[in-house]
Amino acid sequence: MDFLHREKNLCKVCRTRFNKHQELIQHAKKVHHQSIMKCHSCGMEFLHEEDRLHHVQQEKEKKIDIRRHR
Ligand SMILES: [Zn+2]
Ligand SMILES: [Zn+2]
Repeated sequence: MDFLHREKNLCKVCRTRFNKHQELIQHAKKVHHQSIMKCHSCGMEFLHEEDRLHHVQQEKEKKIDIRRHR
């Protein structure tokens, strides 16, 4: 959804906006002590399980693409 995408780097707790996704993650961990989801293959961190699942899905698609081009 477009709405969700735009709200991606916004802290939902204190409404602070960040330029980078990782900055938001660091902020959420330090300031709000939120639990973080991690991608098991690349270690990228996410605030929500749905974000992680979306990322994992994209990684899978990329891997399939690489196989196709070989
Ligand atoms: Zn915050
Ligand atoms: Zn990953």
